Amino acid sequence: MTPPVATTALDPAATAEALALYSDPETCPSDSLAPVPLAEERAFVAWQQDIPRQYLALSGDELDRRIRAARAALGARLVVLGHHYQRDEVIQYADFTGDSFKLAQHAANAKDAEFVLFCGVHFMAESADILTRPDVRVILPNMAAGCSMADMADPEDVYEAWDTIQDVLAGSAKVVPLTYMNSAASLKAFVGERDGLVCTSSNAPKTFEYAFARGEKILFFPDQHLGRNTGWQMGIPLDEMVLWNWRRPMGGLTPDDIRRARVILWQGHCSTHQRFTVAQVEKARAEIPGLRVIVHPECRWEVVQAADDSGSTERIIKVVSESGPGSTWAVGTEINLVNRLARANPGKRVFCLDPVVCPCSTMYRIHPAYLAWTLEELVAGRVVNEVRVDSETRKWALVALERMLALR
Ligand code: SF4
Repeated sequence: MTPPVATTALDPAATAEALALYSDPETCPSDSLAPVPLAEERAFVAWQQDIPRQYLALSGDELDRRIRAARAALGARLVVLGHHYQRDEVIQYADFTGDSFKLAQHAANAKDAEFVLFCGVHFMAESADILTRPDVRVILPNMAAGCSMADMADPEDVYEAWDTIQDVLAGSAKVVPLTYMNSAASLKAFVGERDGLVCTSSNAPKTFEYAFARGEKILFFPDQHLGRNTGWQMGIPLDEMVLWNWRRPMGGLTPDDIRRARVILWQGHCSTHQRFTVAQVEKARAEIPGLRVIVHPECRWEVVQAADDSGSTERIIKVVSESGPGSTWAVGTEINLVNRLARANPGKRVFCLDPVVCPCSTMYRIHPAYLAWTLEELVAGRVVNEVRVDSETRKWALVALERMLALR
């Protein structure tokens, strides 16, 4: 990463204007604690038809009252987990919040609960199901809350890529498969069966070490950027990390490319983190003296290089929270987290690097109406929207997840 660019003192009025632009709720809309009825979020209603109609028109206050009543009725039988990227109207009900790594740990430790309500996206709920006792029922409030990055690694495409790579190498080198947490349970099982493991943005370098202790090459999916940023951090030159384009025969690579590579990166990305650019970093630095930039490693390599620091959401929270009073941070990650971080650090200036960044649109599909519906069904003795991983997949996916959780 480049050191912070020295900035010349700017006119305080110009700096204030720049900060106002970056913090303007009109250009950077996110969440509020007064949700509109689900029916008014028209784009989202279409994603799941089977929510009973009565939930569509409930006001924020009515939803809040009913969610709290259902939670009280369920008591210790229920644990609610909330990912950092959830909107405020939802995350306020979480017993535990965190990134996918921390939430996986909470799921593994939920020893007494009967139900885990996962306010996140589908792959996270699958991981929770794998990590909890078989009798614990894991519920995703809205089954349409998926992850566009996870969808970029279709299991059949990965199996085909694996076979092709094995054919090219013909036993001359061992490949260890690594999957990002943001992937289907079947892919976690796939890596578990082949000596590989799962990683998150919190522990990616350790998982690379694990893999290189067991083989000469890594096949990393689905996020090319986390893979490339981690490889670079570990001293692997860019030309030893090749990109597997799953739309093209042999990934668009030659046999020599595959033989030379130390890391084969799947061509996947996060649409939210893809929005951050080097131009944004340079513009923010030019406009705001003393600014520091921290970004998530799902951002492109050149953006991470241009930033002062990078890391998982947990690390971003730690670095910003521990920085000195009066410091100014441009943060390259999902807007709901950035806005909460800003509110939690009133003596500092914290804003999103992209003034018009959207929230994670799939995470946003969890509206409080879905919480009210799934919780009231539980109170009535009915489990809806359960996420279940079959026993064979679960067996090997658990191996891959436990290898990850065992890393120190
Ligand atoms: S922020 Fe990106 S990687 Fe995370 S859940 Fe949303 S689409 Fe998937």
